[in-house]
Amino acid sequence: MKRIPTGSSIATLFSLITMLLLSFAAHGEELVDATADYDTNNVFAQILRGDLPADIVFESEYALAFHDIKPRARVHVLVIPKGQYTNILQFNQNASSDEKLGLLDAISQTAGIMGVEESGFRLVSNTGHDGGQTVPHLHVHLMGGEHLR
Ligand code: 5GP
Repeated sequence: MKRIPTGSSIATLFSLITMLLLSFAAHGEELVDATADYDTNNVFAQILRGDLPADIVFESEYALAFHDIKPRARVHVLVIPKGQYTNILQFNQNASSDEKLGLLDAISQTAGIMGVEESGFRLVSNTGHDGGQTVPHLHVHLMGGEHLR
């Protein structure tokens, strides 16, 4: 004998499907290929050109630091080189010594501006698919302002 779904089982099924769709949307960001050529239309390239707004913390000839749009710590700033590099490997291979020192200097200066020099902080640079990189322009996450687990 066929069972006819009741109102409450239909509602449960509907909410399960909604939860699945929401969870896919939250994790469905496209991941970057570590060997990809530089994409001049990525969001950070647009920020560097001034086509997209950003809450800037520090800027030099070689680098820019701005607050992450979805902070995952009290302090969460992204530090990027101004040159067109997809990830840390391409940066190491192709950037000049001045650009490399410029990025290191920008990270140190940003830590000072954000007041985390003494309390400490975490640097992360997700690279490629397995690293979970979603924006194809080299960026270093500087996170702190609280004890990070
Ligand atoms: P990934 O996952 O590539 O290591 O990190 C990319 C980071 O960039 C994420 O933490 C994300 O919140 C941040 N992000 C993505 N789009 C924008 C944007 O338009 N503006 C800012 N400020 N951050 C962004």
